Amino acid sequence: MTEFAPEIDQFVAELDAAVEAHMDWTRRVLRCTVLRVTPGDDVMAPEAHTLCRFGGWFRSHRKHFEALDPLSTQRIEIVHLSMHEAIRGICATVLADQPGRLTDLQAFELAQDELLALLARFKTLILTHAARRDVLTGLPLRHGIEHDFSQIRKEAARNGLRLYVVMIDIDRFKRVNDTWGHPVGDTVLRHLADTLRRSVRGNEPLYRFGGEEFLVLAQCRTVEAAAQTAERIVSAVRAAPAPLPDGGMLPLTVTAGLAEVREDDTLTAVVERADAALYQGKQAGRDRWVIAGH
Ligand code: GH3
Ligand code: MG
Ligand code: MG
Repeated sequence: MTEFAPEIDQFVAELDAAVEAHMDWTRRVLRCTVLRVTPGDDVMAPEAHTLCRFGGWFRSHRKHFEALDPLSTQRIEIVHLSMHEAIRGICATVLADQPGRLTDLQAFELAQDELLALLARFKTLILTHAARRDVLTGLPLRHGIEHDFSQIRKEAARNGLRLYVVMIDIDRFKRVNDTWGHPVGDTVLRHLADTLRRSVRGNEPLYRFGGEEFLVLAQCRTVEAAAQTAERIVSAVRAAPAPLPDGGMLPLTVTAGLAEVREDDTLTAVVERADAALYQGKQAGRDRWVIAGH
């Protein structure tokens, strides 16, 4: 799963600038037709679409667009090119003192409309995506799980795999806050989120479920494979203590509870079973994993 993770504010500002710039084309074409003056080399050059600021920015950020919507990304490329071609056609005929072609004009209008609509669509996608993300850790928040859960459940069934909900809770985290203060607690939480992010696979989405709780959706062939996934996560945390402001390292552990998604299960029901398994793990001494029903 490719992540969309650029600086959101800057990304949205660039999109806004692209909309402005491409709206401005209409004004430039109008000046060219009324005053018979060249609209500038960046319009008339055959590679104009690569010279415009949006073209360059879009190429270098293409992977982020693709992570959100691959088809619309391709469409932007096509439409952007045809808009530039249409404008060059219009301006070239006008400057050669020939009557402009209706087809060029229509092509320009259609391409401009579609480009602006596509950019608006991406802006909505990006802002929605940002709203679902936790500011502290950068991880998706729990309200995105419901939607992903039904998709991943279908995917697992198609591939003949079991789906597990893995609930992860930091051990004795209150002590960290009590000893070091809440801001250091936040840094430790961010460190732990990074460790978890590194310990899960590309097809195992990770969420910040609550304060110091995380959730992973893991597709596994067998219960043994689920146990291995849990062990991978728990041992990764154990192996990655958090740096402290005084230069020391703070050992960290988590406890994980796993529950397999059953047919006709609801997300709430399976999360409850994973939570109960997690509780058993805490009772048994923490820094371990427990699979519900095993
Ligand atoms: P246990 O091993 O039983 O899970 O013990 P615990 O101390 O981790 O559990 P408890 O539920 O008693 O405390 C959780 C603590 O996590 C309390 C809360 O202040 C802290 N916490 C939750 N969210 C955040 C956060 O965003 N930042 C910081 N700094 N602390 C948080
Ligand atoms: Mg907790
Ligand atoms: Mg805890």
